[in-house]
Amino acid sequence: MRKIFTPDHVDETADAVVIGGGIIGVATAFWLSRAGLSTIVVEMKDGLSTLTTTASIESFRAQFTEPAMAALARESIEVWENFAEVTGLEGYEIDLHHGGYMFCTLEEGMVDAVKETVAAYHAVGVTDSEFLTGDEVLRRYPWISPEVKAAAFRAKDGWFSAHEVTQGFARAAEKARFYVRTRATGIERDEKGVSAVVTDRGRIHTRVVVNAAGPFAITVARWLGVELPIYQMRRQRVFVAPHPKIPQNAPLTIDLENESYWRPETGGALLGWHDPEEQKTEPLEDPQGDWDFPAFNLEMVSRLSPFWTEIIDDLTKDDLSVYAGQYVHAPDDQPIIGPVESVPGFFLNCAYWPGVMLSAASGRWTADLIAGKMKNADNPLRLTRFEEGIEAPRGSFFRGQH
Ligand SMILES: Cc1cc2nc3c(=O)[nH]c(=O)nc-3n(C[C@H](O)[C@H](O)[C@H](O)COP(=O)(O)OP(=O)(O)OC[C@H]3O[C@@H](n4cnc5c(N)ncnc54)[C@H](O)[C@@H]3O)c2cc1C
Repeated sequence: MRKIFTPDHVDETADAVVIGGGIIGVATAFWLSRAGLSTIVVEMKDGLSTLTTTASIESFRAQFTEPAMAALARESIEVWENFAEVTGLEGYEIDLHHGGYMFCTLEEGMVDAVKETVAAYHAVGVTDSEFLTGDEVLRRYPWISPEVKAAAFRAKDGWFSAHEVTQGFARAAEKARFYVRTRATGIERDEKGVSAVVTDRGRIHTRVVVNAAGPFAITVARWLGVELPIYQMRRQRVFVAPHPKIPQNAPLTIDLENESYWRPETGGALLGWHDPEEQKTEPLEDPQGDWDFPAFNLEMVSRLSPFWTEIIDDLTKDDLSVYAGQYVHAPDDQPIIGPVESVPGFFLNCAYWPGVMLSAASGRWTADLIAGKMKNADNPLRLTRFEEGIEAPRGSFFRGQH
């Protein structure tokens, strides 16, 4: 049976409908299917994971200080490391690399903060995060600037293919179908709660709707009069074509002061930078990168990794491609997961800036909340946390917010 396709017309019933076929929506559908629910994912674009997920640099880390984020990351990493077994797709590869994740500072005044953050990682169970002095960093990675003062490092963090993960979750979701080029345009409700998702191809009757619409989560919630406390911000990344001077054994290397980062990718590299000039924006269906972003990004990563200055002159326009997507932030920079209690049957799995790396566990949490295996009172990422005043204090490095 075809699983991912564009239906001519829909008029049917499903146990659950997920709005959004990014990595979050597809992972949610996988776990809903595992829980025995017939599930339809509607995705307005041509394919799965073609909006924000495709702009990601696909990295994962255990290094979070917030207990809920650390728990999601830990559980997700278990899935990344055992993807074929978890999904039942024998021999399925997600291109997993344990390249490491290293947050570096060049400021003496930041050394204590790095030390304290590593202690905070340990406090939530991430005990294999290491505090490295500048000398230790240089011993491991001699191409780093000699000005480096300290780093937080975890060797078992890394990256994988978000595309393969999404396709794998979709393929393994036995009770799910994925309708691409199918745009949700509204959600109907009756006295019992949600009753249908209206799309540009017809109506799907259901009592469970999951809002996994990425940057459009705010729009989807408004259809039901729900105002989510979230905002979107464009972020860009650059692919640099293979070059012999790019060290391929490098970890994801982050400059904590100017918020730039890079990691190796198939002989070349993926680079990013949190441009402080970026502003909050409306949800964007086709976010565009700036033509001059690669030049700025290369300059930024050169501060901590000076070998980039030697490479810049060799690069032509054809060696660089820029992609853009949107981070979504809640007030405490954590995702929002679980029911909207004012609208029975309406669930959230949204507000991600690191959604690729957390998707496996957050999909499972969402499905467990829907299936009644987890109580919302035990869910630290519930929507009502903001009015309950139980927001976690921010602590993790490098959240990409203003
Ligand atoms: C430059 C950059 C680098 C990043 N690097 C990382 C990283 O290294 N690690 C990491 O974990 N995260 C990273 N992220 C963040 C990560 O990409 C996102 O958090 C993640 O992809 C969010 O997934 P999603 O499924 O929620 O969103 P999306 O991938 O945007 O999926 C939402 C989907 O919903 C669909 N949709 C919306 N409205 C409708 C509608 N009305 N009807 C039908 N479909 C609809 C959209 O078309 C979209 O496909 C990065 C992001 C950027 C921009």
